[in-house]
Amino acid sequence: MLQSTNLQYSYSANNALEFPDIQANKGEHWLILGESGSGKTTFLHLLAGLLTPKKGSVQIGNTDITKLSGAQLDKFRGQNIGIVFQKPHFVKALSVRENLQMAQYLAGVPQEGERIRTILDRLNLAHKLKSRTDALSEGEKQRVAIARALLNRPAVILADEPTSALDDTNCEEVIQLLKNEAAEQQSTLFIVTHDQRLKDRFENRITL
Ligand code: ADP
Ligand code: MG
Repeated sequence: MLQSTNLQYSYSANNALEFPDIQANKGEHWLILGESGSGKTTFLHLLAGLLTPKKGSVQIGNTDITKLSGAQLDKFRGQNIGIVFQKPHFVKALSVRENLQMAQYLAGVPQEGERIRTILDRLNLAHKLKSRTDALSEGEKQRVAIARALLNRPAVILADEPTSALDDTNCEEVIQLLKNEAAEQQSTLFIVTHDQRLKDRFENRITL
């Protein structure tokens, strides 16, 4: 369950962004649509605890993440929240497998090679296990970013414009993957985007 209440954030003293209250239950898929600059990334980063709100709270399961300390929050995030960032970023010198191992290490979960192989297999990336991430196509990078977000079986998956850099075929594939994998794990899936191609693909929809 992912719930936000009265969320506000400001980047400077003379402006404030306000966000709608949401209550996304276990297993639900949500789409947040908005023009560029409407606050989608800010909203997502507040929900992920990457930004601290000026007002309001974010509840994941039984935890109000705005009340956690930095170290508690990092651990909580690693174990409970999978994030697909607007631009995938990896450690370039490392392979796909090593980047995923690092995500397990940072979350303090066991470094299961089996889990990495399973998830890459499901995303049709098994043959890229040993590739360096900078040798991947954009679509492949996006799939590795999704693999990393799903790796630790998070209760909540947050994705920032996961399809905007992709052609129609890859767009369709990525959305299907996110939905299937979220369903498989009964995760709450929360996507923010300006990509109008997605607007009819989700029952729960909010426009910023
Ligand atoms: P979106 O993801 O929908 O394009 P953002 O959440 O990135 O929107 O930005 C929302 C608003 O906050 C915009 O007006 C943007 O200019 C402003 N903003 C975003 N990041 C910063 C920042 N680091 N410093 C100051 N203003 C910012
Ligand atoms: Mg954005």
